[in-house]
Amino acid sequence: MPERCFIGLGSNQADPAAQIEQACDAIGQLPGVSLRARSSLYSSAPLGPQDQPSYINAVVMLDTELEAEALLDQLQAIECQQGRTRKAERWGPRTLDLDILLFGNQVIDTPRLQVPHYHMHARPFVLYPLAELNAELVMPNGSPLRDLLQACPATGIDTIADSARTYC
Ligand code: ATP
Ligand code: CA
Ligand code: CA
Ligand code: CA
Repeated sequence: MPERCFIGLGSNQADPAAQIEQACDAIGQLPGVSLRARSSLYSSAPLGPQDQPSYINAVVMLDTELEAEALLDQLQAIECQQGRTRKAERWGPRTLDLDILLFGNQVIDTPRLQVPHYHMHARPFVLYPLAELNAELVMPNGSPLRDLLQACPATGIDTIADSARTYC
């Protein structure tokens, strides 16, 4: 059975909205992946260093036959294809960041991969787009997404109107 998975996307370099569009197309073309929907795009204040441009963020929903680490391999390849370079500075500027937020109801804790994403509960630019895709989501630990939203005000994010997409 395929797993339903949610991926967080972010970019703040080299035409961020175009980076997100290109990444969605690349994700949809992965073998074993069926892209279902993308949230609106959000403009959001950077995490960490403040001397960098604001971000465009979004979340996509997909169904996949891949194992979680195989999906991570594919997502990291897409980051590389779109010019992501890894620098020492934590949360520094990047052309593309793809994080696995949820992978079915699985809890994963390996050296390369922690799912649910360890910090999603504190990030409005993750929780609000996620809720657009499925407001009834429940975390693997039983916490409803609604409760996480109530504890995380929509501070520092702006929805870009009419930017959500569905895929057939
Ligand atoms: P943050 O994880 O706080 O959002 P970041 O996205 O900038 O920061 P990266 O440099 O992109 O961090 O990733 C560092 C490592 O995190 C990756 O090499 C990957 O192995 C690991 N990682 C662990 N859990 C996940 C996950 N759920 N999704 C993507 N990468 C993950
Ligand atoms: Ca596909
Ligand atoms: Ca990230
Ligand atoms: Ca990442």
